[in-house]
Amino acid sequence: MKDWIVTDQDRELFDRELDSFVPPTVFDAHAHWYRADHFPEDSMPGLVKSGPAVAGSKVFDGAIGQLIPNRQTEGLFFPFPNARVDVDAENAFLHEQLLSRPGSRGQMLITPGQDPEFIRETVRRCGFVGLKCYHVYSPRRPTFESLIEEYLPESQVRVAHEEGLSITLHMVRARALADVANQETIRRYCERYPNMRLILAHAARGFNPHHTILGIDSLRGLQNVWFDTSAVTDSGAVEAIVIALGHERVLYGSDFPVSHLRGRCVALGDSFLWISSDNTDLNVPYARLDLSLVGHESLRMLKVAAMSLRLTDSQVEDIFHRNGTRLFGLDDMA
Ligand SMILES: [Zn+2]
Repeated sequence: MKDWIVTDQDRELFDRELDSFVPPTVFDAHAHWYRADHFPEDSMPGLVKSGPAVAGSKVFDGAIGQLIPNRQTEGLFFPFPNARVDVDAENAFLHEQLLSRPGSRGQMLITPGQDPEFIRETVRRCGFVGLKCYHVYSPRRPTFESLIEEYLPESQVRVAHEEGLSITLHMVRARALADVANQETIRRYCERYPNMRLILAHAARGFNPHHTILGIDSLRGLQNVWFDTSAVTDSGAVEAIVIALGHERVLYGSDFPVSHLRGRCVALGDSFLWISSDNTDLNVPYARLDLSLVGHESLRMLKVAAMSLRLTDSQVEDIFHRNGTRLFGLDDMA
């Protein structure tokens, strides 16, 4: 079972478990568009290497159409961040791809060294509605221990506030939202810059749901924080977010192309592990064990959360598209 290739077995899983759950219209608030030739050969992520050379609007529609058939999908797109990717070329590619897609929006990939005025000029010129920061651009080593300020400086958040931009933040540090330094920075940025809209990726990086469960109360009362569901495969983090802040703050995201990877993220101890066929022995005596696609595992997660929270169909539709289109002032696409 390979990454990227959607098999009959995947289609059966979707038909059996997910077809009756996913609404007809989808706004995907976390998806990456990129070109493989923007990555240096020696630091190309495996998923980029094993996939299409150009992953823009058209390839996205084809690939997502295989994963979630017969839905109309628009979204919030941004480059695939990587320490050595050509950031300017990726942003230019995103801009060009969005020109033919009026129902979708884009976020500029930023690095902490960029002049805030360069960011302002670029988002205005390209019509980007937000920013995508990432820890790999932080000066700290390992970058996974970075404070938010080290990859999202306050001067850039101020520009987001002045220009009314969203920012998708994939937090790091071992305990994510349970980390007090992360909590304090998020609160400070959100309170000081109310016109900036912060989207905490991966349910506040709740790959171990206990981190989001422990930290979510620190964000109570904030009016400008949202959460995307991308690549999250355990339901506890999304459930905690809905209980603390309401379902209106939750945005469905596929994390394309991660959606097309096989495996699942599981909480283990005080951390988590991305299970793949490379790091896990799948030979078990009780069944044939094949890994599904992360995109499907994440939809299953959302279905479990919706059941546990007793969300109505209309609330599920909010998560799948209306919360996102509202956030970006787009007309309802239904
Ligand atoms: Zn992502």
